[in-house]
This record gives sequence, C-alpha cells and structure tokens, in this order.
Amino acid sequence: GPARIIVIGGGPGGVTVANRLKSSDPRLDITLVEPKEKYTTCFYSNLYLGGFRSFKSITHDYAGVKKRGIDVVTDTATAIDTKAKTVTLARGSEPMKYDRLVVAPGIDFKYETIEGYSPEAAKIMPHAWQGGEQTWLLKEKLLALPDGGLVVMSAPPNPYRCPPGPYERACMIAHFLKTKKPKAKLILFDAKKTYSKQAVFEEAFEEYYKGIIEINLTNEIDDFAVVKVDAATGVVTTKAGRTERAALANIIPAQKAGSIAAHAGLTENDWCPVHPENFASTKARDVYVLGDAAIANDMPKSAYSAVSQAGVVAADILASLEGKPRAPGKYRNTCWSMLAPDNSAKIGGDYVPATKDGKPYLEVKEPFISKPDDSAELRRETYQESAEWYQTLVADLFG
Ligand code: FAD
Repeated sequence: GPARIIVIGGGPGGVTVANRLKSSDPRLDITLVEPKEKYTTCFYSNLYLGGFRSFKSITHDYAGVKKRGIDVVTDTATAIDTKAKTVTLARGSEPMKYDRLVVAPGIDFKYETIEGYSPEAAKIMPHAWQGGEQTWLLKEKLLALPDGGLVVMSAPPNPYRCPPGPYERACMIAHFLKTKKPKAKLILFDAKKTYSKQAVFEEAFEEYYKGIIEINLTNEIDDFAVVKVDAATGVVTTKAGRTERAALANIIPAQKAGSIAAHAGLTENDWCPVHPENFASTKARDVYVLGDAAIANDMPKSAYSAVSQAGVVAADILASLEGKPRAPGKYRNTCWSMLAPDNSAKIGGDYVPATKDGKPYLEVKEPFISKPDDSAELRRETYQESAEWYQTLVADLFG
C-alpha cells in the first residue's frame, strides 16, 4: 500500500509538510493530528492586540487541509513508539503505524521557573504565547483595563518562540494604551541583556511611546527576570527583588519543545536535536522534528522558519521513500515586527548547514536587518511586505 505519514501538530510546520507531500504525491496516506479545531496564528496576534486586526482574521480552520485529501484527526498524540513506529492518540484505541513521522508540536512552558505561575494562573495573567484562548484573553483584559492601570510584561530567557515578539507586543500594547487608555503604563521586565532588532525597537519606544513604556533589561546590577507572581494580588517580583502590582500582567515564561517531544525521547535539554541538512531527529529513525520544537541554532523560532524547514522535510521524505539521493537543505527566515501604524521592521537571512566546534550547525548567511534611521517610506513598504507574507502564508496553509 501507499506509504503512511503521520504529522503531529497543525501549525505552519506540520501543515506545510502535509500539504507539500500531498500535492507532490497524492497517493501518500497522510494523517495530521491536531487537537484544536481552529488555529489562531501567533504571528499577527500582536496586531490584534494593537487593534490592527480582528480575531477572526487570525483564526483559521482545517477545512482546506482536509479538502486536499489529508486525514485531519482532531486529537492529541499521547505517545510515540519510535521502535514499533506507532503513535497513540488520546481518544484512539489502536496505536497508528507510520513509515515516516513528522513531529511539529511547537512549544510548551517551563511554568516551574516562575513561582506562583501555572496553567491556572495563566488564566489571570495570560502568556498569550500560544494562539487561541490565551490571545483572546489578553485582549479582553486589555479592553477591561482601567485607564491609569499598570500593565506588566515579562520577556523570557533564550531560546524562545519569536525573538522580536515580546518587543513588538510592547509596541502594540503601548499603541493600544496610547489610543484607548492614555493614562495607563506598561513596564516590561526582561530576563535578557540584549534582544532582537533592539536598535529599531528602542527608537520606536522613544519616538512613539515615550512615557508609556518602561523597559528594564537585565544588567550588571539588576536581574529583571520575573521569578515570582501572585495571580490573586497581581504582584510581580523580579530576581533582584523589585515588585510591581499589575492591573494586568502578561507573563511569558521560559519555554521548551511541545511536551510530546520529551515524552517520546526526542529532546536534549528541552529541545529536539536534528540533522541540519534535513531536520531528521538525531534520536530516532524515520522521525523528523521541525519548527519551534527543533534546535535550529542561528535560525530563530518563527513561522517563516518552520515553513522553510517544512519544504526541506517534505522533499527529504519523498526522496527517502523513493530511495533517491537527497540534497542538503537550504533555509530562509524573515521576522517582521510592527512598531506603529504603517511602520514595520524586519530581520532575516539565509541559513545553511555548517559545522561549529566540530558539530553540525545551521549558520546564517547574508543576514539583513532594518536600521533605526530607515525612511518612513521604507518602513511602510516593510509593513506592506509583512501583510502580503501573512496573506500568502495562510492561503498556502489553510486555503
Ligand atoms: P505551532 O504553530 O505552535 O503549532 C504546533 C501545533 O501542534 C499546535 O497547534 C498544537 O496544538 C499542536 N500540538 C502540540 N502538541 C500536540 C500533540 N501532542 N498532539 C497533536 N498536536 C499537538 N513567526 C513569524 O514567522 N512571523 C511573525 O511575525 C511572528 N510573530 C509572532 C508573534 C507572537 C506574539 C508569537 C507568540 C509568535 C510569533 N511568531 C511569528 C512565531 C510563530 O508563531 C511560531 O514560530 C510558529 O507558530 C511555529 O510553528 P510550529 O508549527 O513549530 O508550532
């Protein structure tokens, strides 16, 4: 019979692999396992917080994926047996056999790194770092914020999903406050000393959000990692001992690969090691891990990266099934961030398999980044580019 491919995770990584495989070889038997009926993109969710997008416009169902002939199973993978080559589902009775397995479960949180934070506390102090209910909750809480209320954000340590994401979020929340709650303030506590696109963000904070945003980066004297929260009182405490009582706290904790990956023995120090030339797991045969869950070195955890990796994974699966030689992958990423109306910045580059300290590595080539003194025209074009990227991507994924 046809080769059986199981894909775990219906985000940009998993959906792209499934779609590409099906369109390349319609005979393949492809099952996509995803617990959610609808996928709300984290990408562009900050624009929803800022008031530039609706919730509906960032939420997509799997009807288009099903229409391609992919078997979309609304369930959670609870176990992977990489020796027997089977996947068990929460509601499935028999383990399902695979010839090739693609694991793209995104991220989970290391709740234990912040005292008092938990999935329950996240209902009061949302992270909104996974799309859906959490995104909706954070916006509802922003809408309900009293004017003059204090918003406290905590940015996570590296590595995490979407390196510029917390700073784009700070801009978008500040834009919301500026236009809807002009007496409110935003304090951001950061576990890090530096961050992605810092120069353009600092320029935007100064130019558009002066007096609204206070950014506290960890430095030699103060460690601004948030170590404790109290959901009942709103009090947020940093490692250096500073406390703030938030009317609304957006706590983004340290992250790890989606928990099925560790459960299946595919992780090392929280993330999944892969061969950089094809994103095959170094831990199990005929298993690929891609997207945020994988260790991709210089390549950031982004939807753009996940899709780029997915193209290579699909090609590698096809070649391996046909016993053909496989070319090592080449990858690309761009991360756009909206700073203010008609003003977006970007960072990105190409990524190639290389070695570092004698070990396989994915290294950036031809990197590019927006500059603080870019013209307004260039920033408007960059905004347009990101809007087109979003539309094209969601049509490719879910259309
Ligand atoms: P995900 O999108 O997380 O998809 C994984 C899926 O797997 C989920 O739907 C989950 O339900 C499912 N799953 C998990 N466990 C299981 C299981 N056991 N069984 C079955 N299914 C399971 N990226 C960009 O490129 N551009 C941007 O502008 C951008 N902006 C962002 C802004 C914010 C605020 C955030 C938080 C992220 C942003 N990102 C952006 C990053 C982007 O959202 C992620 O990198 C991307 O979603 C990763 O894709 P993925 O397929 O690896 O994982």
